[in-house]
Order: sequence, then structure tokens, then C-alpha cells
Amino acid sequence: MNSEKRIGINGRASDRANAGVSADTGETSTGEKRVKALLTYPPGAVGKPITYSLVRQFNLWINILHAEIAADKAGRLIMDIQGSADDVDRGLRFLTAEDIEYEILNGSIVWDEDKCVHCGACTAVCPSHALTMDNLDWSLLFDKEKCYLCRLCTRACPVGAMSTPI
Ligand code: SF4
Ligand code: SF4
Repeated sequence: MNSEKRIGINGRASDRANAGVSADTGETSTGEKRVKALLTYPPGAVGKPITYSLVRQFNLWINILHAEIAADKAGRLIMDIQGSADDVDRGLRFLTAEDIEYEILNGSIVWDEDKCVHCGACTAVCPSHALTMDNLDWSLLFDKEKCYLCRLCTRACPVGAMSTPI
């Protein structure tokens, strides 16, 4: 299941959504911290109101970028989390206490065009539609601006054309 949803707090959602963010520190132009995280829910935990708690208890702004959630199965959420540095850190500790594993997504995805055979396998797994096929010549198109950094394409590519720099 794909979903895209914004949850704002105290009327500041649009300000936060528009704030620039440093790739090095995760700090925004408004002095807040913003991270992109991949949350993995164990089976049985998908009913927990985790997103609601992050918003209400920790005053965080949450933008869900991608969700794969099914009852009684492990689930995955990719979300932007933004707030004061303390609140973001407290929110991340809360996830750990709730047995929700998380990974901070950063860096960049590199597409090696010389290796690419334009098979399209990566487009089937890309949740952000950053990877698409050109409908004129069926070559791969990569829109970096849309990329969530989830790395699903690196596992799907049969020739190793998608990678993350070390
Ligand atoms: S890492 Fe790959 S699969 Fe994930 S959003 Fe970016 S291009 Fe798509
Ligand atoms: S899966 Fe790999 S080879 Fe196939 S289109 Fe994507 S980047 Fe190119």
C-alpha cells in the first residue's frame, strides 16, 4: 500500500515543510532538526498509534512518504520527522522503547548509466516514482529530487547500476 500524508502541528506545517535542510547536519533554516527515517514495525505492532504519539507527545511534524503496513505482518514506513533537536531525539528514543526499529536515511543514490541495461526492474520497487521509464524509447529516467533514499532499487537492480557511495 502506498500512501502520502502530511500531519501538521500548531499551524506550522507549511513553514516546516518549506524550511531548507542541511544534508550534513539535518538542521533546517529555522534551526530545527529534520531527519528522514525508515521505520520497521514487527508483526503485531502495526496497530500502535506511533505516528500520532510522535505528533502529540513530542510536538513533531511528520510527513509519511511511504507505507507498507498489513495486519499481522512486519510493516515499513518512510517518514520525514521534524522538530526541535531535543524533541526529535526524544521521539527516536520513544520508537526504540516501542520496539520499532528505525534507520536514518541519508546520503545519495548513484545511478551508473553505463552499467544500466534499462530493464526497468528498479521502477517496480521505487516507492517515490523517482525511477520511471521514458515512454518514447523505454530508457530509464531518474529524478533525484523525488528520491526517498530507501535503497530498494539497489537490491532490485540485476547489474548493480544503483548504489550508495561509501
Ligand atoms: S532509493 Fe531508489 S527505490 Fe528508493 S526512492 Fe530512491 S530511487 Fe526510488
Ligand atoms: S534495474 Fe538496474 S539495469 Fe534495470 S533499469 Fe534499473 S538501474 Fe537500469
